[in-house]
Amino acid sequence: MSGRIGLVSLGCAKALVDSERIVTRLRAEGYELVAGYAEADLVLVNTCGFITPAVEESLQAIGEALEANGRVVVTGCLGERPRTILERHPEVLAVTGQADVDGVLRAVHAALPPDTDPFTSLLPVPASRPRRARGPQVKLTPRHYSYLKIAEGCDHRCSFCIIPQLRGLQRSRDAADVLVEAARLVAGGTRELLVIAQDSAAYGTDLGHRATTFDGRSVPARLPDLARELGGLGVWVRLHYVHPQPHVATLLPLMREGLLLPYLDVPLQHASPSVLRAMRRPGGPESHLATLQAWRAACPELTVRSTFIVGFPGETDEDFELLLSFLEAAQIDRVGAFRYSDVEGASANTLPGAVAEELKQERFERLMAVQHDISLARQRAKVGRVLPVLVDGYGDDPGVVVGRSPGDAPDIDGTVRVATDGTPKIGDVVEVEITGADAYDLWGNGRRTLPFEPHVPSLGNATS
Ligand code: SF4
Repeated sequence: MSGRIGLVSLGCAKALVDSERIVTRLRAEGYELVAGYAEADLVLVNTCGFITPAVEESLQAIGEALEANGRVVVTGCLGERPRTILERHPEVLAVTGQADVDGVLRAVHAALPPDTDPFTSLLPVPASRPRRARGPQVKLTPRHYSYLKIAEGCDHRCSFCIIPQLRGLQRSRDAADVLVEAARLVAGGTRELLVIAQDSAAYGTDLGHRATTFDGRSVPARLPDLARELGGLGVWVRLHYVHPQPHVATLLPLMREGLLLPYLDVPLQHASPSVLRAMRRPGGPESHLATLQAWRAACPELTVRSTFIVGFPGETDEDFELLLSFLEAAQIDRVGAFRYSDVEGASANTLPGAVAEELKQERFERLMAVQHDISLARQRAKVGRVLPVLVDGYGDDPGVVVGRSPGDAPDIDGTVRVATDGTPKIGDVVEVEITGADAYDLWGNGRRTLPFEPHVPSLGNATS
């Protein structure tokens, strides 16, 4: 055994996937992952540096790890700004940038050399070998759902964001590479795949949508083609961070066919054309509304999730009122709202018209109040319906399980509490009659556990 590593993984699902890659490599070298600071020989903190509160949370997490353990390696988005970290915590052992798995490995080796005894250590696997040859990925999510990262980086230039600086231009994975990983996850018990990228709709543009072969079929690196293949594996497939580009409409027939969950996580950020222009994002209220209406007409079951920023520099009262009117008209099911804050290195920092913090807070609360009533009405409309629910865990009362319907993504949306006869297990999909709702959660009575028939092809047929 090489040593025991504690892990603190902060930030978004994309950062969680980076943590999974790091842990996979560490485990392959014989390091053990432990839950507490006290048992660890070294703590690895995967940070988030996207907005100012996330930077502060990351710096606090590093401080806690230093206090509790003393030996800390820092990686992740905030690791791209080592000065910010070292000014507050000069005693950290090393700082590496986001997705720099090799850099983390070097830092860990320097602080805690791997066990090189061939009789007690696992064979190290070179990073240059393709993913398929490196064996199964360590998962930090529960066994029954998995994030599937289809691309790194981003080609957009939103003025409030430094992700393209941190992660570079978009680099998509070949479809066959993604599908092999997905098939392995399904074979290992995954019942739900959560597709992520900075902009999933742009998947494959950097590859010229080139095709690779999976299970004897040629699959172009294009989201609808990839989604159809993922759906063919027989598990729930949920799409995140889908920008509203025209070809997204071609995903809706796949939802009607049951190959994709009728769910789209679409970051709109605002509705006022002038704010969107200052954000360097396309669209406006009419085009956003027309898109949503067309999607709902094509797939009435669709749940839409979106995020919005209030208090962006230059946002006037009129801009904000326009955003509220848009929300009333759009009736989006799930909304996350953020108060704008400067991000070090973002071009929006230099924009005129900073909004006072109290006004940002007031607008945030008004937006959430408007959205609360919209979400409540949309949730209540589900009462009396029968929905499939994927079981994530057990409730406190006998027979009660807690899960999610197709309209609920893990961690960011609501849950469904289900009274059952006590037989459903974590990872089962139960048919549930919905009997109650609030603005976030549902509850109901379980009828039966649905059969699970995944279709995992022989991976020997895949090439990329
Ligand atoms: S789409 Fe915009 S907000 Fe999202 S990662 Fe790219 S630049 Fe940042």
